[in-house]
Parts: sequence; C-alpha cells; structure tokens
Amino acid sequence: MKYLLVLAVVMVAVYVWRQNRRADIEAQRPEPPRQPPKAPQTPSLMVTCLHCGTHLPPAEAAKGHLGWYCGDEHRRLHGDRAA
Ligand SMILES: [Zn+2]
Repeated sequence: MKYLLVLAVVMVAVYVWRQNRRADIEAQRPEPPRQPPKAPQTPSLMVTCLHCGTHLPPAEAAKGHLGWYCGDEHRRLHGDRAA
C-alpha cells in the first residue's frame, strides 16, 4: 500500500511537470511568427528585365511594349520599342 502511494505521488509529479512544460511551449508559440518590418524594397514592387532577368524597381527600369528592361540597351537588344 505504501508503494502505491509513492507511485501515485510520482504520477502526479510527472503530470504536473508535463502540464508546466506544455504551458511553457504554449507561451513560447506566439513569439516566432514575427516577421521583420517591411523592407524599403518589397519584392512585389520589383520588375524583371526581359533580356537578362535582372530584378529592379520600376523607377530604374525601362518600359517597353513587351515588358520591363533594366535599361534602354537591353530593350533595344530584345527588339522592343519604348512604351
Ligand atoms: Zn537587362
């Protein structure tokens, strides 16, 4: 009977320990999916040069009838005209 009591105490201790561990994991969970603040250049605002594949902001790109280019030379080399 004495061993049964010890076993019960151990089981309660393990149960409490596991509950605390679960609570710790739950407490840590909301932290990680924090994303860094938006960078000045977001990927959605980038265009790709049709000739060489360079990514650059539209302000620095040359627009042709077919799409964007990193410069007038690549637009010309691609056989496109200025839009
Ligand atoms: Zn290019």
